[in-house]
Amino acid sequence: MPLNKSEPVLIIGAGTFGLSTAHKLATLGHTNVAVLEKDDRVPSRFSGGFDLNKIIRSEYIDPFYTDVALQAIRQWQTSPLYQPHFRQVGFLNVITGEAPPVVQNALFKYNKSVAENPAFDGYLVPCQDAAAIRKVASQFTGELPGWKGYLNRLAGYAQASNAMQAVYKECVKLGVVFHVGLAGEVEELLYEATDGNDKMCIGARTKDGVVHTARTTIVAAGGFVANVLPAIGPQISAVCWGVSHIQLTPSESEALRGFPVTTVRDIGFFFEPDPATHKIKICYMGGGYTNVTAQKGGLSVPYASLAESEYIPEKDVKQTRRLLRQVLPHIAERPLIDQHLCWVADTGNSDFIIDFVPGTTNNSLAVLSGDSGHGFKMMPIVGDWAADLLSNGEQKLPRWRWREPKVADKDGRPTHIAWRATATIDLSSTPRAKL
Ligand SMILES: Cc1cc2nc3c(=O)[nH]c(=O)nc-3n(C[C@H](O)[C@H](O)[C@H](O)COP(=O)(O)OP(=O)(O)OC[C@H]3O[C@@H](n4cnc5c(N)ncnc54)[C@H](O)[C@@H]3O)c2cc1C
Repeated sequence: MPLNKSEPVLIIGAGTFGLSTAHKLATLGHTNVAVLEKDDRVPSRFSGGFDLNKIIRSEYIDPFYTDVALQAIRQWQTSPLYQPHFRQVGFLNVITGEAPPVVQNALFKYNKSVAENPAFDGYLVPCQDAAAIRKVASQFTGELPGWKGYLNRLAGYAQASNAMQAVYKECVKLGVVFHVGLAGEVEELLYEATDGNDKMCIGARTKDGVVHTARTTIVAAGGFVANVLPAIGPQISAVCWGVSHIQLTPSESEALRGFPVTTVRDIGFFFEPDPATHKIKICYMGGGYTNVTAQKGGLSVPYASLAESEYIPEKDVKQTRRLLRQVLPHIAERPLIDQHLCWVADTGNSDFIIDFVPGTTNNSLAVLSGDSGHGFKMMPIVGDWAADLLSNGEQKLPRWRWREPKVADKDGRPTHIAWRATATIDLSSTPRAKL
């Protein structure tokens, strides 16, 4: 039965996918939307989107996502809600002279995905050596050893937590109700038995003991999804990357501003200094880290507290400094501040999972998950996918359906993903950086 606009909808997680969905449903006229969020504020510090900035680009090894990301970019460019938080500074996608063949090949495929799409005509600039790169990023004073790739000017970055804040405020204006902290942290989903083996989800209980009933419950809990919806565990692995920042003075920041978002595929990525805080955000890419725990039956889940995620591994520090020495040597040895691990929900093949949960009746339980570390750019259109799912009563796109894991090792963890430089390793076997 289709969802009536006055029936209660409960969204679990006020992160990237949850906020977008709440906003979309409210703009479509749904009058009874509530969001539960475990942090005591929104934007949530547990969200993978809670960052100064996120890359907004459309190059993908799989051209399906190039088209989807392009739709999202059009919204970042034009939507009154999202546009103020988008900076179309371009995306410089390069490798160093030491990049292994697998990374060289990935760069080739990324370039192809946009070069063969007419939407990018006039936006792409080949950068075959350091001199060509300096023409589009004159701030780069380092040697850029062996660097080559291309610049895509139909791309840039979003001021991520600012965008989330704006969407949150708009949701509140539209009547969406938020419960946060213990009043928002879901302890368990609640079900009613129906015919046969099926059950109907009737809402969720939060840590303060309150029961929130709903006609439809939508789980958008990011890397934490398996805590809320254990059945999805075999399809999802929580994976994190280490993020850190360099604090510049206002004049240093001014001098460096204006370069494109830069991804050096075999090391990491970084952004121009943030105009408000004068911080440069930088991240070593690698294959990411899991936190596999026996308690969760060998699944990887994020650390439970924010404090546990406030560090980056030693390897990340080394690679971050290596990257900076190559590109901006004068700041390469500065303190790496605001370190934290940023968590996502990885699927075996990086496809999202946007579907109803099998075994639940009456379209009572849906899940938006499997962001696989590339979901922030989609924020302006995730709500459309959720609304389509609810109105169609099924996921029409096979690749976004609930599925049994295919590309996983015997522990249920994804194996090496083609667009990442190296395989995922567990945090337990990775030394922490000495502060
Ligand atoms: C280092 C890093 C860099 C990234 N860079 C980019 C990029 O440049 N471009 C890009 O497009 N994407 C990027 N991403 C990916 C992007 O951040 C994610 O794809 C996106 O945030 C996923 O959205 P989500 O809503 O699924 O999860 P999240 O945004 O993580 O939101 C999940 C929410 O659920 C809440 N929650 C969890 N459990 C509960 C519970 N029990 N009860 C209530 N609430 C709960 C959490 O607190 C959180 O607010 C990056 C990710 C990382 C880690």
